[in-house]
Amino acid sequence: MSETAYHLTVGEFKCIIFSDGCLADPGETFGLNCIYMEAGDRKILVDNGCGEAFQAGTAGQLLDNMESEGIGRGDIDTIIFDHGHIDHVCGTFNLKDEPVFPNARYIISQKEWDYIEAGPGDNETQNIFYAPARKYLVSLKDRFKLVADNHEILPGIKMVPSHGHTPGNAMVDITSGGERLLCIGDIIHSPKEFTEPEHCAAFDVNAAEAIKTRSGILSKAARDGTFVFATHFTFPGLGYIREKGGVLRWDAI
Ligand SMILES: [Zn+2]
Repeated sequence: MSETAYHLTVGEFKCIIFSDGCLADPGETFGLNCIYMEAGDRKILVDNGCGEAFQAGTAGQLLDNMESEGIGRGDIDTIIFDHGHIDHVCGTFNLKDEPVFPNARYIISQKEWDYIEAGPGDNETQNIFYAPARKYLVSLKDRFKLVADNHEILPGIKMVPSHGHTPGNAMVDITSGGERLLCIGDIIHSPKEFTEPEHCAAFDVNAAEAIKTRSGILSKAARDGTFVFATHFTFPGLGYIREKGGVLRWDAI
């Protein structure tokens, strides 16, 4: 298996999971995966990774990995952001402050946009995490569609609220032809959080709400046998949540 591009289909949608590299946090490394979808004539990305400006040593490899599969940045017509954190939006601009995806329009939840515009106040960590969104995304506002919770982007592609990690955090729920893939974004960053719920709480705007959201969504995913895509798990971040004796675990494909 390629470590940078993983092909799959969800019903009629052709999808590729691309690695943007990884995030090196002191003491821990996280995957950074983006999903690309072809839906009819639409070419859609969820998130665009770190770009040139963040974690340049280990991440920012999305464009190269797309090109290896014959997909250019000009091909992308829609970019969905599950939230506004730096590792999800920083690929929007290059180091010359030019937009990287010339033909893209963007979708984000209205609640997340409101938080980006209002700013995280005196929360130092969130000010760092939201700096690129506040500096750059706002300048592209006329290219953004701001959507309510549970907005259906296209038939079979829906934004589902998962608030807590950030105020307007959303998952992308893909269903087609009787198949489903739930893109859970950052409701979990590390499988360690199954047994240590506060392991990554420093990343959350509202940790208590994030833990509650995670537990509810992942318990349901385990019960339903939902196929899951996790942004920060080891590439390609695809698998199932399993439950035994009240404890959840990750079962990678
Ligand atoms: Zn993230």
